[in-house]
Amino acid sequence: MSIAALLAGLDGAGDVAREEIRIDPRDLGLIDGGNARAEQRPYAAVLGCADARVPIEFVFNEGPNDLFVVRLAGNVLGDDALASLDYALEHLGDSLRLVAVLGHGGCGAVTAAVDVFLNPTGYLALTSKLRVRALVDRLQAVVHASARRMESILGEGVRERRGYRSALIEVAVVTNAALSAHTLQTADRGEVSHHPRNRHGKTRRRVRKRQLDG
Ligand SMILES: [Zn+2]
Repeated sequence: MSIAALLAGLDGAGDVAREEIRIDPRDLGLIDGGNARAEQRPYAAVLGCADARVPIEFVFNEGPNDLFVVRLAGNVLGDDALASLDYALEHLGDSLRLVAVLGHGGCGAVTAAVDVFLNPTGYLALTSKLRVRALVDRLQAVVHASARRMESILGEGVRERRGYRSALIEVAVVTNAALSAHTLQTADRGEVSHHPRNRHGKTRRRVRKRQLDG
């Protein structure tokens, strides 16, 4: 039974839904049903959007222990996301072969940022929504850069063309993912950068080289 079906069976507040879910212990990292936990060995770390339409493991047709996934609306690379990916780079470097950023068409977070860019008065609706506003703010630089790039290639009149909003959303999605990937490659990682010969530094360089060898 799906979670949605389980919830549909609840009559009112205070109801409790119970369902025994039978799964293969190996899917939880348990070896042959025992208590020993398998070592975490993902081959890729992926930063993706929280959007329900893009489940990362499904998209790449992978199962447990294959991907180290960080998902946030708009796949923005804030401190928390960077810290999680740093963990993967520093502790899972023996299995990691790739670090990827996955944007997706029609991203709601990017769309919200584009709409604020095209209609700044809409920003007023976000004044009391501090956390959503912070997300939209973070994406503004990407939207501005995307709009300027489109104008430099297609001329300033591009804003008046039909379909401009949709095109800007898609350009911003790609630019946002590319910028996050570039930031991941070049981010100053504090103690790692200042102590390039420590264990973490070695791991980071090794992962980067694997990316280049690709
Ligand atoms: Zn999205």
